Amino acid sequence: MLRIDGTEGEGGGQILRTALGLSLVTKTPFAIDKIRQKRKKPGLQRQHLTAVLAAARVGSAHVQGAELGSTEVVFEPQTCTAGHYEFSIGTAGSTTLVLQTILPALWSADGPSTVRLVGGTHNPMAPPFDFVQQTFAPLAHRMGAPLQLELHRHGFHPAGGGELTATIAPAAWTRLELLDAPTKREVGARILHSSLPASVPVREANALRRRLDLREHQVSIDEVASNGPGNVVLCDVRLGVVHEIVSSLGERSVSAEQVAERAAAEVQTLLAADAPVGEHLADQLLIPMALAGGGAFRTVAPSLHTRTNAAVVERFLPVAIAMREDTAAGNWVVEVRAR
Ligand code: ATP
Repeated sequence: MLRIDGTEGEGGGQILRTALGLSLVTKTPFAIDKIRQKRKKPGLQRQHLTAVLAAARVGSAHVQGAELGSTEVVFEPQTCTAGHYEFSIGTAGSTTLVLQTILPALWSADGPSTVRLVGGTHNPMAPPFDFVQQTFAPLAHRMGAPLQLELHRHGFHPAGGGELTATIAPAAWTRLELLDAPTKREVGARILHSSLPASVPVREANALRRRLDLREHQVSIDEVASNGPGNVVLCDVRLGVVHEIVSSLGERSVSAEQVAERAAAEVQTLLAADAPVGEHLADQLLIPMALAGGGAFRTVAPSLHTRTNAAVVERFLPVAIAMREDTAAGNWVVEVRAR
């Protein structure tokens, strides 16, 4: 049984999610302790617990420690079964992170699957629905891993109640390389809001136009239906074949200008790096590339999150993940190689 120290590297929920996903694919049992010990509220929160239970359902696994607040889990999977699954987080916890956990398993199952998830669809510190649909899924397709997404209802923190469906089919893996500097670069932005004063998205739009030098028509504002108030800034950054979505969530006691500024700063970092892959996409490409037996991409400076994820991937799969700075180009190259 593989033993995983939950305090490794970044010490967050990603270690658990990656371990669950790859344990299912490789049928490797594992035990993890000190789960999320570096977080303010350590142990399994609702999103992580739902991820453990979802992984257990998909892989008919035997699990110990699947309880709220638990800091230790033992997970022993059997076969991954395709089918229709429904998981409700019960809070505004991120649906996309639960999906991220079971995707590798459903790509390796024996037939097509659908997953309906209820909870948060636009959360801080998680991929917003739009990122999974428009950034991640098209690249997964290029690697031979079919994934389609439909959003039925937006779910913002703290009300939740968002709903999405994912359709997944077995993967026929193929390597992907995203090493060229993007020749075409286009930037735009969409602002979504629900039950907030109309001035909030307007101020965000103005701040984005100023900071990113965008014209009036390059920023759109849409009101969406949701169970409670919420707001997200989604910057569309088209970099060659990659459509990056850089996001920032509206928060109480953070000004509209600051919310826009956070997204704009990340867009500028990405453009300055002259690379097609941003910080979050970088850590999310590691699993599919490792399952495809290799791949490579040019990116911004890898986060501790990406480095931590790489270390967990290397524990489960026969790959080596190298990260090297290309000082001449002002960016980094990440390469996933079969060992
Ligand atoms: P916790 O311990 O609270 O669960 P964590 O370490 O699991 O935290 P994060 O490090 O915040 O969570 O990252 C969770 C996942 O969400 C990662 O895969 C990361 O790439 C992704 N993510 C975070 N923010 C964004 C974003 N703005 N756009 C796309 N993906 C994001």
